[in-house]
Amino acid sequence: MTEFGLIDYVAKLFQGVSHHGWESIGDDCTVLPIGGGEVLVVTTDMLQEGVHFLCHATSARELGGKSLAVNLSDVAAMGVKPVATLLSLALPAECCDEWAKEFVEGFHSLATEYDVALVGGDTTSSQSGVSINVVAIGRGRAECVKRRSAARVGDVIYVGGELGGSALGLKDILQGSVDSDYAALHRNPRPQVELGQWLGTRAEVHAMMDISDGLASDLCHILKLSHCGAQLEVNAIPAAGGDIETAVCGGEDYKLLFTVESDAAERFESEYREIFQQPIYNIGRITAADEPRICWSEDGVEIYPEWRGFTHF
Ligand code: ADP
Ligand code: MG
Repeated sequence: MTEFGLIDYVAKLFQGVSHHGWESIGDDCTVLPIGGGEVLVVTTDMLQEGVHFLCHATSARELGGKSLAVNLSDVAAMGVKPVATLLSLALPAECCDEWAKEFVEGFHSLATEYDVALVGGDTTSSQSGVSINVVAIGRGRAECVKRRSAARVGDVIYVGGELGGSALGLKDILQGSVDSDYAALHRNPRPQVELGQWLGTRAEVHAMMDISDGLASDLCHILKLSHCGAQLEVNAIPAAGGDIETAVCGGEDYKLLFTVESDAAERFESEYREIFQQPIYNIGRITAADEPRICWSEDGVEIYPEWRGFTHF
């Protein structure tokens, strides 16, 4: 079974069980209305030694920061502010006190920067490698929440920053170049929290998610849930090092991917530039389609690459 096959199986199995007001599986976070026009959003992500990180290639401090960053990115992708987190750790006997303290200090440093409280967790031992599980909780106005299912035909598709840098960094790390700029980027992702909150306040922003498994794979989640297709221009994709294939297929960039009402796109772009003082990347359009498919073009000419994102199985 694939990663997404198992998630679909779980989702179907639980269809008959009451949700008690929580939204179903499928978005970056689940959402619960809490009254007064406000919602809580909740997400969780695991990081497993040997799968998501190698202890000899990352410092405990950086790993602590990254464990929180990847979760804050999922809250940002909903358009609201992260407010609280829970941290669970399974540590093997050979993991020394110094490592554990540095890990928690890295987590604390990012939590302080983003004004996120630590409100619980669990600590246990592990027979094999370090396991980290983080829950992140966001809070905001219900009308600010952006869902993967909200893209509309004609919308302009944007990404919030350069793609592929993290995957290039992982390549460097695996080849022994742990000190490269891309390797540092891979170990220290910056969640687009401020941008996510701003996008949440914009009615012309329809669908949003964060890119964790690569553009080719993650955009398809929006297309599937919004019942549409997409046309992407490869030369418009902001590719780290000019490497388009890595930008499209590489994982762990944690940049926001979102769609904007086409009539409002021009004004949206100019306000974005004014506020954030950085470029915004218009990479294509949402199209009418029977299946969630991406059509690629290069300088306007259709191409047929075999590009896939990252999956765990
Ligand atoms: P993300 O990359 O944004 O963290 P994922 O691709 O990991 O999202 O997960 C997609 C959706 O499936 C999310 O809504 C997530 O909560 C849900 N999900 C993933 N794994 C499980 C699981 N084992 N049980 C229930 N829901 C899951
Ligand atoms: Mg996500």
